Amino acid sequence: MTVLLMAVTAMVLAILFFWLSARSRRRTGIPAGEVFYQDLVGQPFAAHDLRSLTLGISGKPDCLIRTAEGIVPVELKNSKRPPARDEVYPNHMIQNLAYCALVEEQLGERVPYGLVIYAGQQVRRVEFTDSNRKWLINMIAAVQAARLAKQAKRNHNQRGRCSGCSVREKCDQALR
Ligand code: SF4
Repeated sequence: MTVLLMAVTAMVLAILFFWLSARSRRRTGIPAGEVFYQDLVGQPFAAHDLRSLTLGISGKPDCLIRTAEGIVPVELKNSKRPPARDEVYPNHMIQNLAYCALVEEQLGERVPYGLVIYAGQQVRRVEFTDSNRKWLINMIAAVQAARLAKQAKRNHNQRGRCSGCSVREKCDQALR
């Protein structure tokens, strides 16, 4: 198991370094810029939790790139079934927008958009627009209300989503 884990980690790192080389970035749509934060095993610097007192959220993006337009948060997803072309799954969109908001508030720098990268090659852009900010704030409020009420309901019937979900073991609505 440990060997498998090390192999998977090495593979993820190899893919990431490939992505982050200038040539492959141009090809895949990853912007040029300084990668100054990475939450990945084996990186030379530690990634710290980002926190927003305004929104009441915290988290660690996989990677932050400082570009000419501002800071771009990047999330890497191993989804076996990426969404349709140019689309992002709603939960990944919430996560990526949350990182945009966290970076903007904590680092005080402009965040033009975030990126979600599926299966190592499918780069999807999440614009950090005013309407997406409002959507994020509403979603956070809805999640917090559901947590308080302790009665969140599953909103899909996709076994595939449940089988890859990180909270499956604790979820009483997981599809088996
Ligand atoms: S396991 Fe639960 S939280 Fe995860 S996707 Fe399924 S229903 Fe949603």
